[in-house]
Amino acid sequence: MNEQISVLERQPVLLDGAWGSQLMAHGLPVGECPEAWNIHNPAKVQHVATSYVGAGCRIILTNTFGGNRILLARYGLADDTAEINRRGAAISCKVAAGHALVFGSVGPTGKVLAAGEITETELLSVFAEQTQALASGGVDGIVVETMSDIDEARIAVKAAKLTGLPVVGCMTFGYGKTGDRTMNGVTPETAAVGLAEAGADAVGSNCGCGPATMVSICQRMKAAVSLAIWMKPNAGMPQQRGDRSLFIYDATPESFAAEAAALARAGTDYLGGCCGTSPAFISSLQDELIRMQQGRSNAGKSSTSA
Ligand SMILES: [Zn+2]
Repeated sequence: MNEQISVLERQPVLLDGAWGSQLMAHGLPVGECPEAWNIHNPAKVQHVATSYVGAGCRIILTNTFGGNRILLARYGLADDTAEINRRGAAISCKVAAGHALVFGSVGPTGKVLAAGEITETELLSVFAEQTQALASGGVDGIVVETMSDIDEARIAVKAAKLTGLPVVGCMTFGYGKTGDRTMNGVTPETAAVGLAEAGADAVGSNCGCGPATMVSICQRMKAAVSLAIWMKPNAGMPQQRGDRSLFIYDATPESFAAEAAALARAGTDYLGGCCGTSPAFISSLQDELIRMQQGRSNAGKSSTSA
């Protein structure tokens, strides 16, 4: 019975939401390298970190999603790779100290292994450089996210594991007839097992097409491996308006929270948001999780007194 109660009361750890759109809201121009702000505009990056800690996050990420040497080279910043990641880590760690943990964000390189644009050895060294710099900046863990190619994701996880820190491996679904594949056709089961074999300490999914579409992905990854599950859905289905290159999301903080709560019921261990979410979305999610917990404990009381 005690076991049943503890299962009922278990809540997912609250994660943060989007960073890129928050930096844009603070003046980052479209087309400018967001990670460069770790060096040139650290106060604004710190502001985003602070707003997520203030929203109640227990784990926040770093402004380093595109902080690998290959993507930074597009801005002529390849030589600043280590510094950008160290500073990104340090900014989040300074804000989070005593309130939250910090996981270093690592995204894809944009190079396609299968097309021979990069070798596995090169990829491993690119991810090792980034994750070592994040580790030296003080992060508590690494999250490899928004991955479509299981081979790139596995190499990133292996590189991140060399830091000795806990590593989360996440892929993005929403493609294929039933929306349960990554852009490269990977299923939730293949992703979970592949990431686990590469050494991930937790597996999951971020981005995609909104919380409702991620419930079955969460359940399937959970069934495939015995690891903790990490879920960061977008604020609904991304939509393009006019000729703008930016995506627009229709969810409100309240509608997002109501839908994302289904992922808590599906058993995710970590829960936050991705594109289109903000500190307001995360606050609203926290309120929803508290209401859920109160509902459970009231239901528990009435059943014990009956
Ligand atoms: Zn996203």
